[in-house]
Amino acid sequence: MARPSATPDRNCRRCPRLAAFRSDWRKREPEWFNAPVDSFGPREAQLLIVGLAPGLRGANRTGRPFTGDYAGDMLYGTLRKFGFARGDYQARPDDGVELIDCRITNAVRCVPPENKPTTAEIATCRPFLAATIDEMPKLRAVVALGRIAHETFVVAFGAQRSVFPFGHGRAHALDGVTLFDSYHCSRYNTNTGVLTADMFHAVFARVRQHLDAAR
Ligand code: URA
Repeated sequence: MARPSATPDRNCRRCPRLAAFRSDWRKREPEWFNAPVDSFGPREAQLLIVGLAPGLRGANRTGRPFTGDYAGDMLYGTLRKFGFARGDYQARPDDGVELIDCRITNAVRCVPPENKPTTAEIATCRPFLAATIDEMPKLRAVVALGRIAHETFVVAFGAQRSVFPFGHGRAHALDGVTLFDSYHCSRYNTNTGVLTADMFHAVFARVRQHLDAAR
């Protein structure tokens, strides 16, 4: 199959279950975005953050990754703290937030029921991630939010999964790109203490150091 562009069609039907879920929500909430959520941030960025999938009432509603999602509060706050974003994040796509040398995408572009994409859906959406990587000529660092983002990124990048196991706080040297792993900044992980703000900040401090060291 030919590699697709980095942006799925608004009515992409590659995943029948996700397409059905989306059309149901288009009827229920016609004002919502209800479509594959595109990456946010400049293609020339050195840093790519890979999330899981849009949240139903977050990115699927607003159309911008992590925007309106609980996880977005922590992510955008952290990006700002480490100089990867400017502006006042207000959980709206028109809040004026700009990403600096940073881009955000998702492993799966459409909202999955229960926040859980299937293995087949992750694989079906992977060509869009691969195309996203391909269109970033300056890419040097990736933050994977969670194991699924880590694994799909490794495969999309053309590396071997068994050589690069996921682990929070780990950094993997791939060909020209360092992959930094973090637990996902989801409500569940932060409420249960699996991921604290300090742990999340430590990952981004390393990324900042990595990018600054090569200047
Ligand atoms: N919102 C996103 O866009 N991605 C996630 O992984 C979680 C929330």
